[in-house]
Order: sequence, then structure tokens, then C-alpha cells
Amino acid sequence: MITVGALVLLLCFSGSAVHATEPFPLSWPARLKIPRGEIVELKIYGEGLSSVEARWAEQNLLFYALAPGLFAAIIGVDLEAKPGVSKITITATNDAGRQRRAETIVQTLSKAFRQESFTVASSFDQLSPEALELIRSERADFALAFSTPAAERFWEAPFIRPVPQESSSSFGYRRIINGKPRAPHTGADLRAPIGTEVLAANHGRVVLTGDYFFAGKSVVLDHGGGLYTMYFHLSELKVDAGAMVRRGDVLALSGMSGRVTGPHLHWAARLGTARVDPMELIQKISFGQSQQPESAIGN
Ligand SMILES: [Zn+2]
Repeated sequence: MITVGALVLLLCFSGSAVHATEPFPLSWPARLKIPRGEIVELKIYGEGLSSVEARWAEQNLLFYALAPGLFAAIIGVDLEAKPGVSKITITATNDAGRQRRAETIVQTLSKAFRQESFTVASSFDQLSPEALELIRSERADFALAFSTPAAERFWEAPFIRPVPQESSSSFGYRRIINGKPRAPHTGADLRAPIGTEVLAANHGRVVLTGDYFFAGKSVVLDHGGGLYTMYFHLSELKVDAGAMVRRGDVLALSGMSGRVTGPHLHWAARLGTARVDPMELIQKISFGQSQQPESAIGN
């Protein structure tokens, strides 16, 4: 018969197993607030931290090391996401093989985008059945391009503007035509005279090139880990699908192909399934420029 004393002794002897799961010091943000269409860097720090895995909204997040013990992943919220709360579950492993779990609450915030209402003759706005069929097949092309993101990270910070010109504040802009809200504008329009060299915002693989109904001549880059950038309304493509490009490589010349009223570059970004403002990539990714997690809770 095992006495209480023997049981305590037994537990003490199994101490090494208990020790292996003992929490180790870790810093991570308890809560992230993300306005829709924006991104944040989720940073996790622990001495001797060797890897971090996390799941959020049925997606695995890709973490990368910024400095010894410091890992980060970027997460983004779709521009049409409803305000709400979700949870990131994190598993951190240190170089002794110990694991620690943590949670970060993600609060999606509402954000107002510019919108304008128009009334037009209904015939003005109709697309032919042929055009609608073409648009459907083009959507399938894009869906295919997004279906197999590279698991490794190709990009390095900083991201660069693909053309030198500033962006108009057009991300999220929505037209309401005859009382019906249209799809929001999912990119940033950069003013660019026809023939301006369009540069890769970062390293990546060309996963789509083509000439599309709305987007015109287009290039899509896969930067890995679910991050894509897109370049629309081009006049001349300079890369082929499948090619690896480096940040600053010329992808194309800008133009006014597709459904546009004037020359410009439509630049867009996608992270996981979220359509995010591409300017966020330039503004929010510190990538090693900051050494400690911001708003971290020490534990
Ligand atoms: Zn646009």
C-alpha cells in the first residue's frame, strides 16, 4: 500500500518531468488592437527562445527571428472585417526544449473609409454576360495564385514603394451606386505617368501575370508566409510567372490598362485571407529595428 508520504516522494522523483513543462520567462502582448485593413507585428521575447508557433483564425502564423530570443509574425485584418474579438494561441519553445503556451487577444476595430454616393442611369453600369463570365474565370486565376503560399519568408524589411509617387488615400474607398454599396477599393492608387518603372516592393516569387478585365496587365508576388503584393493597370510586363525577384527589381512599366479613368499604379497587399493597405507594409514592419516587444506583458 502506498502511503501519502510515499506518494509525495514519488512525485518528487518524477520532478524532472514536471520541471520540463515548467513555464520559462516570456514576454508577449496580452492584447492587440487592429483597425480593419491594417497590420501589426506580433513580437514574442524569451531568453533562449528557439521557435514560436501560433494559430489564429484557422491560419498558422509564420514567425521569424529578429534577434536572439526575439521572434515576430505579421498579422493583418481584412478591410471588411467586423469589429470583434479573436484569440491567437501561441506555443513557444526554448533551447532546452521546454514549451510554454500563451494567448493574445486580437481586437478588430472599426475604421471609417471614404465613401461617395452616385446615381447613374442603370444601363450605364451594366456588364455584358461575356464580361461577367470573363471576370468569373479571372477570379479563379487569382484564387489559384493565392491557394499555395510559399511556407518560407522571402521578404526582408523594409518594404519599398513600387513607384516614387505618393499614394492617394484611396484604400477602402467605396462607391454607393444607385443606393447599392459596391466592392471597396482594395489597394492604394499611386499616381504614375505611363511608362514609370514599377519595382518589386520586396523579394518574392511571381505567381501571376496576365491581362484582366478590371485589373488590366497585372503582376502578383508571393512573399511567403501568406503575404502577397499586387500591381495592376500596367502597360508592359518585364517578368514571367515563376520567376524569383529581388526587392527593387523592375516588374513592369506602369500604364492605364483595365478599367481605369487615368494612368496610375494600383498597388495592393494580401496577408493570409486579409486584404490590407499595402502602405502598412512600409509603415508597420520594423524587422529588427526595434529590439523589444512593445506593450509586452512580462511573465
Ligand atoms: Zn486602384
